[in-house]
Amino acid sequence: MTVSAILQNKGTSIVTISPDVSLSEAVRSLAEHRIGAIVAVDAQARVAGIISERDVVRILGEKGPDVLSEPVSSVMTRTVVTCTTSETVPGVMERMTRGRFRHVPVVEDGRLLGIISIGDVVKFRVEEMERESAALRDYIMTA
Ligand code: AMP
Repeated sequence: MTVSAILQNKGTSIVTISPDVSLSEAVRSLAEHRIGAIVAVDAQARVAGIISERDVVRILGEKGPDVLSEPVSSVMTRTVVTCTTSETVPGVMERMTRGRFRHVPVVEDGRLLGIISIGDVVKFRVEEMERESAALRDYIMTA
């Protein structure tokens, strides 16, 4: 099963932010959309970075609340690991585990198509396992 199956299910709507706006704007957006990370995009809509709730907590712990007026670009992670729609879900899961992050933007030909979270991956895997065990049960009952 591939990333495109998850995107088909959850849709491709994606919350983005400019790297130039303040951190408090990013916090507002994270809260408003009830999400854990936002992709920062430049004026050409290319991925410029990613900022997650962990970044916000870490920088607040280090610098205190004054940091909220600094731009997103000063806090975001600039080297963003992405995936494509044709990659397998276990492959993306492995990348998240290895990189210790919970969000992977889906990018193709430089275009941001969506974002996959660890929650999406776990939900997908649980549903897949349920389907497999139902199929096995059916097979045993009818054998
Ligand atoms: P998360 O687990 O997604 O809240 O992110 C943990 C840390 O990894 C934060 O510093 C994020 O900025 C960073 N991060 C999140 N997603 C990615 C990604 N796809 N590529 C690189 N870094 C990421």
